[in-house]
Amino acid sequence: MKTSIDLTRLAGRIGPLPNVASERTRHLRARTAGVKATVSVCPYCAVGCSTLAYVGDDGKLLDVEGNPDSPISGGHLCPKGSAIFGFTVNEARWTTAKYRAPYGTQWEERPLEWALERIAQLIKKTRDETFVRERTVNGQNKRVNHTLGIASLGGATFGIEENYLLGKLMHSLGVVSIENQARI
Ligand code: SF4
Repeated sequence: MKTSIDLTRLAGRIGPLPNVASERTRHLRARTAGVKATVSVCPYCAVGCSTLAYVGDDGKLLDVEGNPDSPISGGHLCPKGSAIFGFTVNEARWTTAKYRAPYGTQWEERPLEWALERIAQLIKKTRDETFVRERTVNGQNKRVNHTLGIASLGGATFGIEENYLLGKLMHSLGVVSIENQARI
């Protein structure tokens, strides 16, 4: 490797250079060696740093790292972006919802399907109870077709398509309080 650093002088201060490596270390290969990288984008915030996702022949995600070709970040990822792989492939990740019933004192494990169904039922109930067809504005009845009983706060892991669908869903329900943590 060509370098403008005076290795002899540096070695006098920090030890042998280049670094001593065992035979075994010299033959070690990264788990992504020879694996095709797919260009993707960090799902977390509106900065939109580009990533490289390595997927093995068996379809399993092997690693995610910053894309050096990214004009935004030049291959760097912030701590959130650096954690994409651990967030995705992680045995400790929760796969159930924690539910505490009204007036309950204990958290209960519930399947995600159960949680989605409950959320859907509560949205329907709240909308039915709070939907307003008309309001009187300056003495005139105006068609509003909205509910002020529901608000939507999207997460930063939403991408363009998910935010589009969420916006469609909320507008079709008559929800007007819609916000997102980051507008990708
Ligand atoms: S969360 Fe971090 S890595 Fe991801 S897009 Fe934002 S700044 Fe980039």
